[in-house]
Amino acid sequence: LKSLLSRPDLVCEKAFIRGEWVSSAVGKTFEVTNPARGDVIATVADLSRAETADAIQTAEDARHAWAAMTGKSRAQILRKWFDLMMENQEDLAIILTAEQGKPLAEARGEIAYGASFIEWFGEEAKRVYGETIPGHMPDKRITVIKQPIGVAAGITPWNFPNAMITRKAAPALAAGCSFIIRPATQTPLSALAMGKLAEEAGVPKGVFSVVTSSAASDIGKEFCENPHVKKLTFTGSTEVGRILLRQAADQVMKCSMELGGNAPFIVFDDADLDEAVVGAIACKFRNNGQTCVCANRIYVQAGVYDEFAAKLKAAVEALQIGDGLTEGTALGPLIETAAVEKVRRHLNDALSKGGEVLTGGNAHELGGLFFEPTIVTNATKDMLVSTDETFGPFAPLFKFEDEDDVIAQANDTIFGLASYFYAKDLSRVTKVAEALEYGIVGVNTGIISTEVAPFGGVKQSGLGREGSHHGIDDYMEMKYICTSV
Ligand code: ADP
Repeated sequence: LKSLLSRPDLVCEKAFIRGEWVSSAVGKTFEVTNPARGDVIATVADLSRAETADAIQTAEDARHAWAAMTGKSRAQILRKWFDLMMENQEDLAIILTAEQGKPLAEARGEIAYGASFIEWFGEEAKRVYGETIPGHMPDKRITVIKQPIGVAAGITPWNFPNAMITRKAAPALAAGCSFIIRPATQTPLSALAMGKLAEEAGVPKGVFSVVTSSAASDIGKEFCENPHVKKLTFTGSTEVGRILLRQAADQVMKCSMELGGNAPFIVFDDADLDEAVVGAIACKFRNNGQTCVCANRIYVQAGVYDEFAAKLKAAVEALQIGDGLTEGTALGPLIETAAVEKVRRHLNDALSKGGEVLTGGNAHELGGLFFEPTIVTNATKDMLVSTDETFGPFAPLFKFEDEDDVIAQANDTIFGLASYFYAKDLSRVTKVAEALEYGIVGVNTGIISTEVAPFGGVKQSGLGREGSHHGIDDYMEMKYICTSV
């Protein structure tokens, strides 16, 4: 891996706490593998719960001076961090693809997207406005100020090893909090490279730490039970989100949760079918289907069902599959064996209930963690895929007749993160956008992620929003000061 980089020192194998690069006290490590080839690309420090407590103590010590700086001073450091990430975009993208598998073009996009949160929230640091409220009595003056919540701890998944971290770290640091991240075991290298650049940007010691550890639940417990931690921010499955919320309840800790989705993608009969196909490819097959906003259920109105299916089939069959580091690759491998098994489980279940393979349906000839992008027609709501997120390259096509019926089907889930639909009729567009019980609705687009908009889910898809001017509020407390004059 190092030989591919102009800055080999961005591959870091030690954890980053106290502003120092540390090994585990007992010399424990875990291996990072390249999912496209299966070879070990790094051996990373495996920290314990006690070492995590140490990182939290330093974050606690560091936060006061950081919070006391002006927003502008913090913004200048964040700007530098952003600039360094963009200067090293290519190296960061290669590291990301090597540990995660996504095509290099997508990895470059993720670095730019990830960095954009640092730029955005750095700018927001200067605009954390309070409020004055006319007093309720002649002698009373009321002021509202916002203050950083304190030490914030984050736990992130492997599907966006860079951007899931910056969406949390950037608003935390902008607000004046110190921040500790525990990246996913599969993808610690992107997080550590960010630590390296944070150090170079002048982020003070202890303000940004990266705790690498294979002991996810131990670290999660420390984050929830350590009294210095005032905020927990998590992206991952709803299942683990529930565990963390329960644990965080003992300290009544403020939590942000970006959890699972089960995104519907609806194609109405007045849609531009070519655009709908482009959108479906982008949102179903990006990152090989491994994003929480990927379309999971594709509903197509009866009158355009066959035509849409044929066009989607042609587009899917044109996708190039291979090692993400090979230029031109559109689909990389899945992250691990369990992910391949889940795709197979959903596929077999669909086939046993009347689904028919339109294209794909098998392990890819490249072997390993590669699976053919698959479309199944005749999907029905008794199939596993209608209630459970596949997180892989499996596109089930459901046929529907009626607008109200498809809205009801789309909403018939415990999840509520992203949803998409294609239509042209203005009143239909307005009605459906308002009726979908989701935090995010893409209308005639399959790509909805941007740092300027509030990203987050309703129902069991989560709590809180990341990005936009709202995103910093999750790292601040409001204080109301009542002065008698
Ligand atoms: P995914 O399927 O995307 O891996 P998970 O919810 O299983 O989703 O994992 C998301 C992150 O949470 C990963 O970094 C994982 O290591 C971590 N994690 C898993 N279980 C726990 C737990 N009990 N406590 C804290 N973190 C956990």
